[in-house]
Amino acid sequence: LSDVGEHGWIRGLVRRAGKASGALIVGPGDDAAALRAPRGTVLLTTDTLVEGVHFRREWLSPRALGRRAFRVNASDVAAMGGRPWAVLLAIEAPASLPVATLDGIVDGVARDARAAGAVLAGGNLARAERLAIAVALVGVAGRTIVRRAGACVGDVLAVTGPLGAMGAAVRARLAGRAVRLPDVPCRWAVGERLAPFAHAMIDVSDGLVQDAGHLCRASGVGAEIDLAAVPVAAACRRALGADAARFAVGAGEDYELLVALRPRAVRAARRAALRHGVGLSIVGRVVPGAPRVRLRNPDGTVAVPSRSGFDHFRRWRASAR
Ligand SMILES: [Mg+2]
Repeated sequence: LSDVGEHGWIRGLVRRAGKASGALIVGPGDDAAALRAPRGTVLLTTDTLVEGVHFRREWLSPRALGRRAFRVNASDVAAMGGRPWAVLLAIEAPASLPVATLDGIVDGVARDARAAGAVLAGGNLARAERLAIAVALVGVAGRTIVRRAGACVGDVLAVTGPLGAMGAAVRARLAGRAVRLPDVPCRWAVGERLAPFAHAMIDVSDGLVQDAGHLCRASGVGAEIDLAAVPVAAACRRALGADAARFAVGAGEDYELLVALRPRAVRAARRAALRHGVGLSIVGRVVPGAPRVRLRNPDGTVAVPSRSGFDHFRRWRASAR
């Protein structure tokens, strides 16, 4: 990067990001981006991936890293029932970083943004000790804005896909096996479709138990999750065997959507999700009482999971730091 310099690289970026079109009136290369404002409500979110904290460079290709930076943000927009619209990308990088790495990251972001119907509107590059990728995403809300609050006693809890794939991959990496880390799934289209049925929704970034806990606290309800009903990713099942479901509900970074909806709405919601090739698995129910998540074991016993049982990611983050 030190050979090309900030301004040289940004000139290249302007070429990669493509010409202004659609809502984008002024794209990368000026003092700020200009976009024609959408009618309705916009959603704003931002998330940063920091090397050594959220990723290791040897575990992900630059493109996969870029995709990830975009999709973790798109996942938050999806969890509100919205769609990605415009992206700002701010990168901190050491001067020794190969330009090809930086270009790959931008390509990963730009391609995914395009595929989602969004534009890479601009960004920033700053020199730092380690690589960090910050995405700020503007989304357009659908007709229904779904929040974490709103789950009602009697609702069922459903997830949009299998859990535990990322957890199992990280576990394998930490054990020295060079497995591929799965991509963050694209759930914005299905999130928008599920929104009219949802009382509450959240994306599963910290693990099902933790994120269900966030939803419970926001809604002032409790939740019970059936371990036997949790859809477990094949790789997780292979690696963890009998412990797979318990591992999967604690492992993070699956980025599926967790939705609370009334039992009557399940059929229609399932049909709507299937139109996007996404299944909807009922994993539990909303119950009265303290905002806590309880796990129902296959033998029928119920337990409140201890934090220590669900700390795989926290541990890997700590060890990577
Ligand atoms: Mg989230």
